[in-house]
Amino acid sequence: PAGFSTAALLLTAASGGGIVAYADSSRPEDASGPPRQDTPRKKKVVVLGTGWGGTSFLKNLDCSLYDVKVISPRNYFAFTPLLPSVTCGTVEARSIVEPIRKMFEKKKKDVSYYEAECFKIDATKKAVHCRCAVGTNLDGNGDFKVDYDYLVVALGATVNTFNTPGVMEHCYFLKEVEDAQKIRKSVLDCFEKASLPNISEEEKRKILHFVVIGGGPTGVEFTAELHDFLVEDLVKIYPAIQEFVKITIIQSGEHILNTFDDRIASFAETKFQRDGIEVNTGFRVIKVADDLITVKSKSSGGEILVPYGMAVWSAGIGTRPVITDFMNQVGQAKRRVLATNEWLRVRECDGVYAIGDCASISQRKIMDDISTIFKVADKDNSGTLTLKEISDILEDICIRYPQVELYMKSMHMLGIADLIGSAVGDSHKESMVVDIEEFKKALSHVDSQVKTVPATAQVAAQQGYYLADCFNKMDHCKEHPEGPLRLSGSGGDHHNFRPFRYKHLGQFAPLGGEQAAAELPGDWVSMGHSTQWLWYSVYASKQVSWRTRVLVVSDWARRFVFGRDSSRI
Ligand code: FAD
Repeated sequence: PAGFSTAALLLTAASGGGIVAYADSSRPEDASGPPRQDTPRKKKVVVLGTGWGGTSFLKNLDCSLYDVKVISPRNYFAFTPLLPSVTCGTVEARSIVEPIRKMFEKKKKDVSYYEAECFKIDATKKAVHCRCAVGTNLDGNGDFKVDYDYLVVALGATVNTFNTPGVMEHCYFLKEVEDAQKIRKSVLDCFEKASLPNISEEEKRKILHFVVIGGGPTGVEFTAELHDFLVEDLVKIYPAIQEFVKITIIQSGEHILNTFDDRIASFAETKFQRDGIEVNTGFRVIKVADDLITVKSKSSGGEILVPYGMAVWSAGIGTRPVITDFMNQVGQAKRRVLATNEWLRVRECDGVYAIGDCASISQRKIMDDISTIFKVADKDNSGTLTLKEISDILEDICIRYPQVELYMKSMHMLGIADLIGSAVGDSHKESMVVDIEEFKKALSHVDSQVKTVPATAQVAAQQGYYLADCFNKMDHCKEHPEGPLRLSGSGGDHHNFRPFRYKHLGQFAPLGGEQAAAELPGDWVSMGHSTQWLWYSVYASKQVSWRTRVLVVSDWARRFVFGRDSSRI
């Protein structure tokens, strides 16, 4: 009949003329036809960000269940672990990115994408305010508002300069694809500049001094790439100036790669020293000027001026302004990242979830909950529990908080009775009576043992996957909850979902010269040439599409055969 939308007609046909489901809310009011039996409106899910967290969520979400809108200023996903390789042309920028619309080709009817930046999250009105990232709309105003029922905040982090003067103006960063491209040009600029006539030797040394500030995985990986680029390619094409080249890492901690196993940190330091890379640990950069970096020794307090040609700042990550603003609204001011519960929901905020670098599971909440668990277990308010009850509580805590699981396991190994020592009042194992306060004292160092999950792609991707899984089975789990018992406000009912559990799959640090170090599950540490081949295979397999996989592998092969391209385009 005239006036019916195409979607409604298709659905009528598909339903065999029986029950008619109007997924399309644009059905005209005056439409005639079979009696209308509306399906409930699909809930609106808005996803902010197309990085590791956002895309992992979208890839795994059954988008036909929701009305999904994705908002991000980047219309592509970037494989960040290979960004350092882009800085020197080992792989090309386009080889590590995948267009968002292509990733959701099969789901395109169910997903809308807006190339825009969210500048305000209004949790009370359940809306996000956005600004178009590509020019303005017809009114000359690029702002618009998108309503949501569920919001997934996956906005990542920004660079953190710790307000160090001059960093923003004079340093390069390595966070986005554009940053890596800028670095590549700048390195080549330095070589061309130093090759010009009438440049003194002192000037050449300054121009060809590359300083990397921050000795974490990103800084170390970039240093290794830069060193390879210099010794494998640039020295051949700029032989006259090779003696003036120098690379320095400045690290405020005692060691570089201090989040890795000590053996890896010392292997990396020894290798870099052998390669002629200067590793300055225990120094903090306090100012960056046009051609001088001021560093301060943490031990002596003395200041040193370091002339440089190019500096890359990779000393930490900070909070995006939109997240800071949102945290102020929801009573989380002064935090660095959004606090969520173990189901990744922003605390005290209905329908808002946060994943990846912009979020972390609140530790204070864990300690509060542990106290509540004890209170709930002590039904008769006697202030004591049996060892059996304590053991059950520990198990419950481990299910709720995977972060404390390892610590708890080691406590079990030590023997709970030993741990609680004087608190034990009975010598019969299971029925031993334990003073709760004493036991809590014994647990007091759980606080310092609870490790925050690191800000890595691995965590963001696992959180995205977990959250999509919860969204997919939302209806099923309402009927058949699978989570642990609720701690408060319940007559013994369960949480709908199991809490998020992070599974650490290990981490790599490529160190240049076809060598890498790896920390793998089960405390297994591996270093050297064979680990580099493991790195190649893992990173090839982790690519998000066959297109990028083929491009990345062919870039590696091209580099082996022809070397890196040193054209400054
Ligand atoms: P991101 O991936 O940063 O995504 C954030 C998204 O939000 C982006 O799409 C961005 O465009 C979008 N966005 C930003 N602002 C707005 C806004 N206002 N409105 C809407 N959208 C917005 N991790 C590992 O596990 N292994 C590694 O080897 C590794 N190597 C790395 C190397 C480098 C050089 C870097 C920079 C990081 C590396 N990481 C690695 C860390 C990893 O990239 C991050 O932990 C991961 O990207 C976090 O994912 P995310 O989804 O939280 O944020």
